[in-house]
Amino acid sequence: MLTLERFSFGVGDRFAHQAKAQLRAFQRLAAEGIEVVPVWNKSNREHTFIGSEPQSVFDAAKAAVAALGWKQGWHVDADHIRLETVGRFLACSDFFTIDVADSIGKPAAASDVAAFLARHPELIGTVSITGVGQPFATTRAEVEAVVAKYLLAVQDAGKIYRHIVAAKGEDNLIAEVSMDETDAPQTPLELLIILAALADEKVRVQTIAPKFTGRFNKGVDYVGDLVQFEREFNDDLAVIAHAVAKYGLPANLKLSVHSGSDKFSLYPIIRRALARTGAGVHVKTAGTTWLEEVIGLAEAGGDGLALAKEIYAYALAHVDELCAPYASVIDIDRAKLPSAEVVNGWTGPQLAAAIRHIPGHPEFNANVRQLLHVSFKLAAKAGPRYLDLLKSNEEIVSRQVMANLYDRHLKPLFIG
Ligand SMILES: [Zn+2]
Repeated sequence: MLTLERFSFGVGDRFAHQAKAQLRAFQRLAAEGIEVVPVWNKSNREHTFIGSEPQSVFDAAKAAVAALGWKQGWHVDADHIRLETVGRFLACSDFFTIDVADSIGKPAAASDVAAFLARHPELIGTVSITGVGQPFATTRAEVEAVVAKYLLAVQDAGKIYRHIVAAKGEDNLIAEVSMDETDAPQTPLELLIILAALADEKVRVQTIAPKFTGRFNKGVDYVGDLVQFEREFNDDLAVIAHAVAKYGLPANLKLSVHSGSDKFSLYPIIRRALARTGAGVHVKTAGTTWLEEVIGLAEAGGDGLALAKEIYAYALAHVDELCAPYASVIDIDRAKLPSAEVVNGWTGPQLAAAIRHIPGHPEFNANVRQLLHVSFKLAAKAGPRYLDLLKSNEEIVSRQVMANLYDRHLKPLFIG
């Protein structure tokens, strides 16, 4: 079967111009002796906003791999697909993020819930798992409530999985199941029950993306209780190892962290857990590469800076419309968004410093950063003017992309 490597890292490249710069960051890590494979991800929503086709992600990645002579693995992720959206991703993706969050909490057939409980008496009572400090103590009613909440979502995952398998063959795909885009986080016990149900559905899941505790806003750091996150993350790793052995799931099954990018305060926690357990991980980031493009254009000055300022002014004037689709994953304090007049008076390095995510930098502004992050369709609207500026400023833009990915993500996550 097509096997996802132990360490993988998902990157976005919304305008398909930065794959080479991104790959250079992975090459540098490989030169340090750490193999992390890139997974290019772009969701259906992003394709729709920009008017691009999934094939363009594959083509850009393949060209970068060829140009740089990358010999290790690489993948293209059909990100957050469902049955109705997977079609145009089938030919050009080998990694499928099967999103079933919408079905959480919807009722499965009562007979299916009863059948699950009859099949899994081991989940009721005291459930001891190596690596989890306190054994789970469950009642039949508690397990039944969890099954009732998640079984339909798991059955949906099975349907979507079988649809992809029919198109590609079971050995030619990597399946991820995601449940992160929902209100309540899943506890380690819920994860265990979900994995048992996925095994029953015969989904060869290689990576699973639960919703973790805390807030994962787009493009900014984690907001939440780090101690609780660490405990749950470690328990989740133990649950996965247990479920692999107990239910015959793929041996390389691992956690996927849909980070929304830039969860800097979680990186040391994840790194320690991987070192301690030998587990793998997939960390998915959002399309913040596009922010590095804006930073590069700002730094370049001239026409690049002018367009960056125009995009900000337009975004500020359309803040409601741009933020609406992302309302649950951004926290913008509008009082702290500078006016277009103020930003128009900034130098390129000033605007770049406001966007570039260096926590503690006196000019960094998380509100400006988040607003621009959700404004990528304005660059799509600028069309060739934007893309031509990316080309004529390739050197400075790719330097931003590479440095961001290596210095602020890959190095702290995998080296420290
Ligand atoms: Zn996600």
